[in-house]
Amino acid sequence: MTANDWIDLRSDTVTRPVPGMREAMANAEVGDDVLGEDPTVRELEETLAGMTGLEAGLFMPSGTQSNLVALLTHCGRGDEYIVSQDAHTYRYEGGGAAVLGGIQPQPLERAADGTLDLEQVRRAIKAPDFHFARTRLLCLENTIHGQALPLDYMQRARRLTEETGLALHLDGARLFNAAAALDVPLAAISRHADTVSICLSKGLGAPVGSVLLGSAAFIREARRWRKVAGGGMRQAGILAAAGLYALTHHVERLGEDHRRAAELGQGLKDCGYTVTRQATNMVFLRVDEGRAQELHDALLRERIRVDVLDTANLRLVTHLHINDNDIERVTETLAGLAQAV
Ligand SMILES: *Cc1c(COP(=O)(O)O)cnc(C)c1O
Repeated sequence: MTANDWIDLRSDTVTRPVPGMREAMANAEVGDDVLGEDPTVRELEETLAGMTGLEAGLFMPSGTQSNLVALLTHCGRGDEYIVSQDAHTYRYEGGGAAVLGGIQPQPLERAADGTLDLEQVRRAIKAPDFHFARTRLLCLENTIHGQALPLDYMQRARRLTEETGLALHLDGARLFNAAAALDVPLAAISRHADTVSICLSKGLGAPVGSVLLGSAAFIREARRWRKVAGGGMRQAGILAAAGLYALTHHVERLGEDHRRAAELGQGLKDCGYTVTRQATNMVFLRVDEGRAQELHDALLRERIRVDVLDTANLRLVTHLHINDNDIERVTETLAGLAQAV
């Protein structure tokens, strides 16, 4: 697919629609989806509802909007959600829930394995007292920084929210990667959540699109908030067709991305790099303080792109357009640079 010999490992969002996907998009049957008349959007929403075991779905342009609409539907002004300090819904979405919903986050530090300590979550739930915001929601992310949350953790989180009357929203931007890593069907994870947001535009390779899933009643209300957020699209079936194509053709192959990331991680360890984490399709590297940009620039000269996280940490992500030869070339190039960093 690559138009040149660049290897782009910055993110799995850099994928471009493959010819078969473009063909499916061109041939999509469409209607006005704001009026609920786009058959391809409906098919996508129903397909994902079936896969997650949730009642209904709602197609949106981005994962940020899907999470925002979930928060706006779960919480009102003066309510709060409990969330990890570095979760996408807290840190990377422009504070949208606070900006647009008057919803306050209650961020907590997470453990290295991506989980929030559930006893700490329980203690963070505020008592019913008018001094406090009303704690309504626990928001988890799976995968989180590449790591799949253990199934029994999801189950325990679910039990906690049931006991305390909170709802559970799962930011499953990469939920298919989590399911592949755990080797379980999607529903084995999603059945522990009230609502789930899934991105089609990450490892699944669609150009645009996320789907929010939940009960039929929740999705009816979410449809209103989607409109408020400006996410009502008209002949969106052209985009939904890309998502449907991805569900048919790009789910099974996620295991290949994971295998390649594991090989890359191992290869880099073997030539002396500090791999701080390798999980699903991601590899995280730590270099000497202040050297991350230097390594990035050296790789750029070799037509390899990686993501600089901070002054000492980099991220490499495998996806649809990364093959075994690319992994070999990246490993060899980094081996050659190992002395320099
Ligand atoms: C990418 C991502 C989102 C949002 O995606 P956009 O489509 O880029 O808005 C949400 N959560 C997580 C964990 C993500 O990785």
